[in-house]
Amino acid sequence: MVQADANLKRILKPGRNVTDWGGMQKAGVKNVARPQTEADLVETVKFAARSDTKVSLRGSGHSAGGHSFCQDGLMIDLRDLNRVLELDQQNKTVRVQAGATWAVLTKILEPAGLAVTTKQEFDTFTIGGSIACNVHGKSIDYGPIIENIISLRLLLADGEIVTVSRQENGELFRAVVGGYGLLGIVVDVTLQLVDDRVIEKTEVVFMNLKPLLAAYIDRVRSDPENTPLCYGFIDPEGNQGYYVTYKYVGDDRQYSLDQLKRDETNPTLFNVFIWLQRNFKFTRRRAFHLMWSGSNKPEVTLRSRRLLIWDVAPSAFQKLLFQKYFVPVDNFLPFMQKAGQILKKYEDDLPVLTNHFRFVPGNNEALLSFSPEDTICMIPCYLAKKNNRRWVAKLEQATDELLNACLEQGGSYYLTFDIIASKEQLQQAYPRWDEFLALKNRCDPEGLFNSRFYEKYSENMVPSQL
Ligand SMILES: Cc1cc2nc3c(=O)[nH]c(=O)nc-3n(C[C@H](O)[C@H](O)[C@H](O)COP(=O)(O)OP(=O)(O)OC[C@H]3O[C@@H](n4cnc5c(N)ncnc54)[C@H](O)[C@@H]3O)c2cc1C
Repeated sequence: MVQADANLKRILKPGRNVTDWGGMQKAGVKNVARPQTEADLVETVKFAARSDTKVSLRGSGHSAGGHSFCQDGLMIDLRDLNRVLELDQQNKTVRVQAGATWAVLTKILEPAGLAVTTKQEFDTFTIGGSIACNVHGKSIDYGPIIENIISLRLLLADGEIVTVSRQENGELFRAVVGGYGLLGIVVDVTLQLVDDRVIEKTEVVFMNLKPLLAAYIDRVRSDPENTPLCYGFIDPEGNQGYYVTYKYVGDDRQYSLDQLKRDETNPTLFNVFIWLQRNFKFTRRRAFHLMWSGSNKPEVTLRSRRLLIWDVAPSAFQKLLFQKYFVPVDNFLPFMQKAGQILKKYEDDLPVLTNHFRFVPGNNEALLSFSPEDTICMIPCYLAKKNNRRWVAKLEQATDELLNACLEQGGSYYLTFDIIASKEQLQQAYPRWDEFLALKNRCDPEGLFNSRFYEKYSENMVPSQL
C-alpha cells in the first residue's frame, strides 16, 4: 500500500458516488483530488501511477456517458487550475489553464473586444473539458475548437509535461483534442482569438421540412464568412421547422455595450415551460409553435454573447437529455425524415421537446472527428426520466434506430452524449478508433487514464491487436 505524504493528504479527499450531466452512468470513486497548482497535479498523477490506481479527469462534468469517472478510480477535479496566464491583444492569443471555465475568459476578453471562435451555449464548461470533446459551437463561420488551438501542454502518464502542437508532437495533437482525457491531462492551452463583432438577427424562416432544409442549405452555403450564426428547430415528428440567421453588422461603432443584449426567455419562465411540457401532452403539441413565435423578435448583440443562450443553464435543463447526430449536408433530409418517423413511433414513451439543428463546418484534423466533412447536426432534446427503467430501455431502443439511420447516411454521432452505441456502431462512425486506441496504448501502456466510457469501448482489445 503506497502512503500519501502530507501534501497529497491535503489534495486527496475520500471517494464518493459520482455521476455526470447525463445522470445515468454512476460509479463509486476511491478518491477525489483537487490540485491547486501544476506541481500538485504532477504529484497526484505520480502517486496514482505508483499505487496502481486508475485516473479519470473532471472539468464541470457536463459530459453524459461516464467520460469523467471510473469505478474505484481517482477522479481529478481540475477546476482550481483556472488562471489566465497570458493575453496577447496584439496577436489575439490567450494562454489559459485548462480548468478555467469560459466565464473566466469572457470576463477578460469582452472588455478587450476579443472572443473565442467556438464554445458551447453556456459559460460553465471548462476549457479542458471542451478540448477533450473537441467542441463545436453555433458558429457557422468557425469549425470545432481544434481549428483555433495553437498549442497545449500535456501531462503524460509518466509525469512528464510535453508541448503539443501541429509542429511538435503532432500525432498527439490530433488525438488529444477530442480524445476524452485518455492520453493525458491538458494543463494549459494557447488559443487563437478573433475580434468580437456586432451581429443582428436578419431572418426567421418557417416552412415544411423539405423546403425548409433546401432554403437552409442555400443560406449556409451562400455567404458563410458574413453569417456567424444560422440554426433552427424542427418539430418532434420532423414535419416542419424554422431557422434564424444572424449577420455581421457593417459598422460596429454605432452601438454601446448597453444596447447589445441577448434576447432570451427569462430562466424562471423557461423552467415553468419545461415543467408544463413534461406533465401535459396537450402543451407539448403547442410547444414548438410557442418557441417559433418567441424567436421572431429583432435582436442586435455581440457575437460572443449570442454564442450563449444563458450564462448558466436554468435548472430545468438538468432534466433534459440531448444527443447529437451529424449527417453530411446533402443526406440530412432523408435522415431527418427517418428520424421523425422513429421519434413519432416512440412519442408516448419518449417525449421530445424539439429537434435543434445547425450546420457544422467540416474538419478532419482530429483523429476522432465527428464532422470530417460539412454536416448538419440534429440535436433531439428529450424530456428525460433518467431514473425510470422503462424510459431508459425505450431510449436505448430508439437510439439504436437513430444511430443506424444516421450511419446509413454516412453520418456520425457525438461521443460526449452517448454510451448506448455498440462498439461496431462507434467504429463505423469513428473509423480511426482503433488507431486512437493503439496510440493510447503506446503513450499510456499501463492504462492509467481511464473512464467508464473507455472501459466499454476498449473491451476485448488485446495489446497484439493494437
Ligand atoms: C446543456 C449542454 C449543452 C452543450 N452544448 C454543447 C455544444 O453546443 N457543443 C458541443 O460540442 N458540446 C456541447 N455540450 C457538451 C459539452 O461540450 C461537453 O460535455 C464538455 O466536456 C463540457 O465540459 P466539462 O468541463 O463539463 O467537461 P467534463 O464533462 O468534466 O469532461 C469531459 C471530458 O473531458 C475530459 N477532461 C476534462 N478536463 C480535461 C483536461 N484538463 N485534460 C484532458 N481531458 C480533460 C474528461 O476526462 C472527459 O472525458 C453541451 C453539454 C450540455 C450539458
